[in-house]
Amino acid sequence: MNQPPTHCPYCGTAVEPVDSPMVSDAADTAMVYRCESCEDYVFYNPTPGGSVAVIDGDSVLLVEDFRSPGEWKLPSGRIELGETPREGVARELEEETGLAVDPADLVYFFDEAGEPADEQYMVGIDYAVHRADTTGTVEAASDATDARFFTPEELAASPHELKFTHVQRFGDSLAWVIEEAQSALADCRPPSTPPGRTY
Ligand SMILES: [Zn+2]
Repeated sequence: MNQPPTHCPYCGTAVEPVDSPMVSDAADTAMVYRCESCEDYVFYNPTPGGSVAVIDGDSVLLVEDFRSPGEWKLPSGRIELGETPREGVARELEEETGLAVDPADLVYFFDEAGEPADEQYMVGIDYAVHRADTTGTVEAASDATDARFFTPEELAASPHELKFTHVQRFGDSLAWVIEEAQSALADCRPPSTPPGRTY
């Protein structure tokens, strides 16, 4: 569940929040509910997502969100069933910007949590890649109305600003995002495949 559950998804009985069987103080919102009919718990979970910082020199690729003209963010989205985080963000990057990337070329640089809409919690895993390791031409598509590279100075001098969900997740400094992504790319080690993996 990624909204506070009101009823049991199995039998339809109204559920009540209960103390978590696990201990976490991450959110003030109740995370665990219980169906007295099924005598089982219903969990209220965040949705996994992620972003890609495509780095070209001292600039990073941002997209303008169709929901909020003039507000920009890293290409990002939710992970779909069956995808690894790398596969999910690579798909989102291509959908939003036209750039294709081999998921194996994505380098972890950050993770975060946020509440982009009321009671809709996300957890994000964020990757960096050099522009030279992507293919295609930048062309806004899907949920993005525009896509272009910005240096922090270019963004500051423009009428554009960072979207609140980007600020919630990455802060208000585009320079920080670029420096963290560049640093991760400088240190990168490609992931290997564990022997015997079945999924
Ligand atoms: Zn039930």
